[in-house]
Amino acid sequence: MRCSKCGATVEKGVTTSVTDTGECLVIVRNVPCYKCVECGMAAFKNDGVMAVNETLTISGKEYTFNASGELI
Ligand SMILES: [Zn+2]
Repeated sequence: MRCSKCGATVEKGVTTSVTDTGECLVIVRNVPCYKCVECGMAAFKNDGVMAVNETLTISGKEYTFNASGELI
């Protein structure tokens, strides 16, 4: 797998996902991804290892995230 931006090799790692819900920012740490060794661009890929949805309750509202850290 190669970086879609610069074509360098990507390595498995974790990144921090920031989602703007419109009312607040939700930050999910340690989101599994593949990260470019050159430019650092993260390519999210669900490899099944951490395919667990996470639900956070913020200010009385529930937000559910998939394993890529995206709001669903
Ligand atoms: Zn790159």
